[in-house]
Amino acid sequence: MELLNGKETFFAIREELTEKVNSLKQQGRRAPHLAAILVGGFGPSITYVNAKVKDCERIGFGSSLIELPADVTEEALLEKVNELNNNPEVDGFIVQLPLPKHINENNIIEAINPKKDVDGFHPVNVGKMVLGLPSFVPATPYGIVEMLDRNNIETEGKHCVVIGRSNIVGTPMSILLSRKANPGNCTVTLVHSRTKDLASYTKQADILIAAIGKAHFVKADMVKDGAVIVDVGIHRIEDTTKKSGYRLIGDVDFDEVSKKCSHISPVPGGVGPMTRAGLLLNTMRAYEAK
Ligand code: NAP
Repeated sequence: MELLNGKETFFAIREELTEKVNSLKQQGRRAPHLAAILVGGFGPSITYVNAKVKDCERIGFGSSLIELPADVTEEALLEKVNELNNNPEVDGFIVQLPLPKHINENNIIEAINPKKDVDGFHPVNVGKMVLGLPSFVPATPYGIVEMLDRNNIETEGKHCVVIGRSNIVGTPMSILLSRKANPGNCTVTLVHSRTKDLASYTKQADILIAAIGKAHFVKADMVKDGAVIVDVGIHRIEDTTKKSGYRLIGDVDFDEVSKKCSHISPVPGGVGPMTRAGLLLNTMRAYEAK
């Protein structure tokens, strides 16, 4: 079994981007700039946004964090989005989700200029992705495609089973791997909570992508020998042996499944860092497209 080491792949991408930024600066050009809006940040959102800002600093991108209170009105948030749309120094920006309940997320996503939508959530980018046109692809599926590619995982002609159909992971993942492209050219099956006899599909998978949001859902008896396993899930479980008091586990029962598969992405250190890579790559592309 080989690990799909997302952390190492992320470090390699970070190195490549750092070199690009240094070269831009040597030419007297400004660096790419990513902005993030955080509304009434609670636990995980603050951690995610801070990691994104730190990644930017590390590779020499400009970054700005705009923090708004939890009771900000939808109008005020839309105004902020508009400001960033019109700021020529900002190449791309994200609005960290989820938003408070009184704000309609779709209204916010649709207000973002698709050319700056580095999260790839705007309907224009989703539509272009479906049509196979150049677009911003959501960071997690983008990162997974990069991880498969850079680890020389053959996808052509393989049967890929994706568990989960969310707009940010499962659905775009199924579209990207069924595209006439490399990586791609898979035969894709997308399964979800209404699928009957789910294991009968997962057992057929050459490549299994688990994006369910249920800790250790995928067990060894659901997996074919020699399959490639990508674990998207992230769950905190109590662990008194750790200084933090918790550890992270995925949607896949790593100890069981790793004995059976050819490759597996660990949690932590697999898809998580690749998601961070996806956002940085999208920001560089937004800058280059200008
Ligand atoms: P989500 O929006 O909750 O979607 C979960 C999907 O799994 C849904 O399509 C749901 O089906 C399906 N599902 C739930 N229970 C199921 C079951 N028992 N059998 C079959 N399908 C089932 O989650 P998400 O945003 O895609 O995220 C999934 C996981 O990935 C979470 O643990 C999340 O924290 C993690 N995540 C990690 C990263 C990263 O960077 N590593 C990024 C994003 C998300 P229905 O559609 O029928 O409800």
